Amino acid sequence: MNAAVVLGLDVGGSSVKYRLASAGSSDGIPAAIAQGTVQTPKKDPVAGLAAIARDVAAGRRLVAVVVGIPGLVDEDRGTVLRSANLPALDGLALGPALSAALDVPVGVINDGRAAAVAEARWGAGAGERDVFTLALGTGIAGSHIVDGRVVDGAHGIAGELGHVVVEPSGASCACGQRGCLETVVGAPALRRAWNRAGGEGSPKDLLAAYEAGDERAVRVVDRGAGALADAILTLLALVDPGVIVIGGGLASAPHRLVVRARALVDERATFHRVPPIVPATLGKWAGAVGAVAEARALHDRSPVALAAN
Ligand SMILES: [Zn+2]
Repeated sequence: MNAAVVLGLDVGGSSVKYRLASAGSSDGIPAAIAQGTVQTPKKDPVAGLAAIARDVAAGRRLVAVVVGIPGLVDEDRGTVLRSANLPALDGLALGPALSAALDVPVGVINDGRAAAVAEARWGAGAGERDVFTLALGTGIAGSHIVDGRVVDGAHGIAGELGHVVVEPSGASCACGQRGCLETVVGAPALRRAWNRAGGEGSPKDLLAAYEAGDERAVRVVDRGAGALADAILTLLALVDPGVIVIGGGLASAPHRLVVRARALVDERATFHRVPPIVPATLGKWAGAVGAVAEARALHDRSPVALAAN
């Protein structure tokens, strides 16, 4: 019989990243037997994802799959509750449907959570038991990970640093509050602030102008960095993590805003213990790595695997 393999899928709005690994349990990063990117199936996501899984596993014995989804997920039921980027998945019992199509256990997780756990265990957080990861992009997602597990509070919503209020009379946020960190440092907020200041283009253009010493860009970046620094000081006061890992679309370029925020945290800290604040290292594969690691864990606890042991 072929060696058993497990598959992690990281489903995005336009592409699906996959990583195939051996099913054998190990504490190390699941080495890729195959890894790559394919187009996201838009019409029939269950049939499309099942076809991707069959293609990627071709000729091998697939024993578990975990799918990372950008959106709100009921992990216990394997259901996608809401996915802004992938409306075809809204309300879909993706786990059970895909499991029926492939005849293997299938788990569904939030993509950010998968990436955060992978980054904490095998990326920039490796070796530290208490890690806080921040993803800066359109939104701002935070995850507190202790001993490789997400600490998500009594109701599953802990870690929402993007919705810590940093400007009490600031802009209204999608969450209903005013002046959340996201309304200052989220990519759309930075773009608006930059355009209002007379600058043209995206947050990337803003950072390029900042590098070039453009005074308008310096003002916008300083405001963002100040807000991020205040949010991080709140985080230090409440959580006291051993390391803060910052990733996400906005952090992938040499990110002057994060560098500036780090300097401001050092300046403003009093009783706080400022941990290393470091860039994420797994890059765009973090979600697929996290998903395949979860697939291994899912296989380890599935009844078939237990009977075979
Ligand atoms: Zn908010």
